[in-house]
Amino acid sequence: MKLLILLGPPGAGKGTQAQHLVSRFGLVQLSTGDMLRQAVKDGTEVGRKADAIMKAGQLVPDEIVTSLISEQLDKHAHAPGFIFDGYPRTQAQAVALDALLADRGMKLNHVIELTVDEDALVTRIAGRFTCARCNEGYHDTFKLPKVAGVCDICASTEFKRRPDDNAETVRARLAVYRADTAPILPYYEAKGIVSRVDGMGDIASVGAAIDAIVQDVPVSA
Ligand code: AMP
Repeated sequence: MKLLILLGPPGAGKGTQAQHLVSRFGLVQLSTGDMLRQAVKDGTEVGRKADAIMKAGQLVPDEIVTSLISEQLDKHAHAPGFIFDGYPRTQAQAVALDALLADRGMKLNHVIELTVDEDALVTRIAGRFTCARCNEGYHDTFKLPKVAGVCDICASTEFKRRPDDNAETVRARLAVYRADTAPILPYYEAKGIVSRVDGMGDIASVGAAIDAIVQDVPVSA
C-alpha cells in the first residue's frame, strides 16, 4: 500500500502528475477539487455549498472535504494505494487525514512537494483547458491539441475551462495556499516524510523525478 500526498500551489502540476502515477503504479487519485467540481455539476447539497466558495478561490469547510475523502477511501478499500491531490490543505485536514487512515490501519508514506516559481503559475493556470469528454489536459501556450480544436486522445471537439482559472481567482488561490496550506509542511517534515521536486521542468522530467521517489517509498502494511 502506497499512500502519497502531492502538495503544491495551484498550477504546480499536482493533477497532471497524479494522473501519471495512476497509470504508472495503479494508484487511485483522490482529488477533492475534482470531487467538488463533480458535486457542483450534479447540483448536490455539497455542490451548492461549495460553488461560490470555489469561484472566489477560498477553501471549502474542512468537514466537507474530509467526509468526501473518507467516502472514497471506503469505496476503494482494495486499491493498491492512494495519491491525495489537493488534500489536505489545512492543518485541521492534515490531522483529520491521519485519523481517517489510522481508523483503517493505514499510514502515510510520503509527501511530495512540487516547488514552482509563483510568477509562472498565473500564466500556467490562466492558459489551461481540458477535453470535455476525456479530461485530457491542454494549454494555450505549452500544449495545444495536435489538430486544432480536436482532442488528441478521444477526438472530441469540445473543451472546457475551469471558472476559477482566471488571473484574479488564481491570485486569491495562491494567497490561500501561502496562508493555510504551506504551513502544514512542517507537520510532515517532523515525520521525516517530505521530498521536494522542482515542478518547473517539463511534464516528463517532473514525472521521472516523482517516479524515482515513489519507487523507493517503503510499503506499509
Ligand atoms: P483544486 O482543483 O485542487 O485546485 O481545487 C479547486 C477549489 O476547490 C479550491 O480552490 C477550493 O475552493 C476547493 N477545494 C479543493 N480541495 C479543497 C480542500 N482540500 N479544502 C478546501 N477546499 C478545497
